[in-house]
Amino acid sequence: MKTLKTLMQNFGIVGAGGAGFPSYAKLAEGANLLLINGSECEPLLYTDYIILKNELSLVISGISTVLSHTGIAKAQIAIKEHTAKRLGLEDNDRLAENIFVKALPDVYPIGDEISLIYEATGRLVKPGKLPITEGVIVYNVETMYNLGRAVRFNEPVTKKWLTVGGAVESPVVIKVPIGARVADIFKELDIRLEDGYTVLDGGPSMGKVINPSTYSVTKTTKGILILPDDSQAILSKKMNTKMAIARAETACCQCTRCTDMCPRNMLGYPLEPHKMVRTAMGAVEAMPMSVLSATLCCGCGICESLACSQGISPRAVIENYKGLLAKERLRFNLDGEYSVRPEREYRMVPYEKWMSMLGVTKFDKIAEFGGEINSFSRVEIPLSQHIGAPSAVAIADGAMVGEGELIAMPADGLSLPQHASISGRATLGINKIIIDKVR
Ligand code: SF4
Ligand code: SF4
Repeated sequence: MKTLKTLMQNFGIVGAGGAGFPSYAKLAEGANLLLINGSECEPLLYTDYIILKNELSLVISGISTVLSHTGIAKAQIAIKEHTAKRLGLEDNDRLAENIFVKALPDVYPIGDEISLIYEATGRLVKPGKLPITEGVIVYNVETMYNLGRAVRFNEPVTKKWLTVGGAVESPVVIKVPIGARVADIFKELDIRLEDGYTVLDGGPSMGKVINPSTYSVTKTTKGILILPDDSQAILSKKMNTKMAIARAETACCQCTRCTDMCPRNMLGYPLEPHKMVRTAMGAVEAMPMSVLSATLCCGCGICESLACSQGISPRAVIENYKGLLAKERLRFNLDGEYSVRPEREYRMVPYEKWMSMLGVTKFDKIAEFGGEINSFSRVEIPLSQHIGAPSAVAIADGAMVGEGELIAMPADGLSLPQHASISGRATLGINKIIIDKVR
């Protein structure tokens, strides 16, 4: 286990989607199942699908490495039914010794770690606890691909697979150096950004709005999507938080529909978005635990984009609380008896319906692999690409670096190193290292 932890840390391996948890830190004693998240429940993203289609042997190699170093008996690659069909796979197919397919229903948000574990295994991670408490370690498909490359080719993480999609002629999955600028990617793919469109890093539900002129690809970029400003996906992201809270304070009729449809509530979690909205209306003193339960929200947006017919965003209220609680280092951590609600199986949101609620159905075309692009003359590598402390610069300003060379060391505590993703001259920027190819 220690050897694997060191290997994962030295090669800079991080959760390749979502929040970017350093992968070595997930390894712990007591696991009996390795669950590989290939569910890609965000609409319009096809990154994991293309990796599984083109690079399954490296994914399997990464999984086998984890199994052999940890003694975990079994691994499941969890993918949605429609992805399984496209890959010619079925539920419970055996891909290698102790590695099986787990087909999941096409519902949103099945990729949420807690929902994923319950759906794939029937195990319920208690509110505020980590998957390891139920004997599960979860890694993303691309994380296992990166581990496979590290073991087979002795290579650190310097490349990223991502979908470029949304309002483009043909969505593609490409492989680019980490730090590639989005503006340069658009140039390479001949994409011109028109007025009235917004660019996201990530999916339409949980992705974040970025400025393509200044933003560069990180180890967690799963997709770059271009979406119209008038789609629900973008409207909800551009919502003014103060106005959203003011609206919640005045317009909520306490119908409880947001709570009835909340996937975490249906898993039995004590998260009740309608009560969070009520606290915004001034009831916070009476219900302090409701506020603490904000940390149980996965941010899926169902309460805001699907459940509420009054145009209220419980998610905005909850996000605001999450920020305040994070500053005080407070989180929900109460032991208790929790059980999944029987109505859950009837209330899950079909993938097609979710796409339509976000206004992105017309952009859903299956992406093809667009190849590896290596013609970038500059990359800008952020020192903070993961949860934990930013990496510490390990080179001098102006140093010549080779691809794969260590350029930043892990800081104290939870942290990872960074490696040059192209060869060239390095310049130390603010919170980033810029590398220019030298001709
Ligand atoms: S669905 Fe809307 S109106 Fe109903 S309780 Fe939730 S926030 Fe209030
Ligand atoms: S965003 Fe809303 S629906 Fe989703 S988990 Fe949070 S409270 Fe529940």
